[in-house]
Amino acid sequence: MNKCIFCKIIERQQPAKIVYEDEEIVAIEDIRPQAPVHLLVMPRKHLPSLNEADGADAPLLGRLFAVAAHLARERQLESRGYRTVINNGPWAGQTVNHLHVHVLGGRVFHWPPG
Ligand code: AMP
Ligand code: ZN
Repeated sequence: MNKCIFCKIIERQQPAKIVYEDEEIVAIEDIRPQAPVHLLVMPRKHLPSLNEADGADAPLLGRLFAVAAHLARERQLESRGYRTVINNGPWAGQTVNHLHVHVLGGRVFHWPPG
């Protein structure tokens, strides 16, 4: 089976601006940023979406958000606020089927989202 684009980035087979990595998680800059800060935080493990995560993945899911918060703090986003988003499936607009948390900041975001 063909590797997904994020697995290729994680394995350094595809270029990307990597801003964080550890043994479980990699974070990159989004190639089409929707805000002054737009990062994608992903597990090295290929989980297509939250639908495929189970109880055993709970610590990993927690760590994804801990890394998202760390990167947001590093960019001084915490006082004004920032948004974390996971799109799951076609109606949510998911386009890359490898679970990732968007970290968006540096501008005002409206609610409800479109
Ligand atoms: P989603 O639509 O929630 O699945 O998010 C996928 C995100 O990945 C989009 O914001 C894309 O701009 C971004 N993206 C797609 N390909 C790449 C790539 N090669 N490098 C960095 N970001 C990418
Ligand atoms: Zn993948």
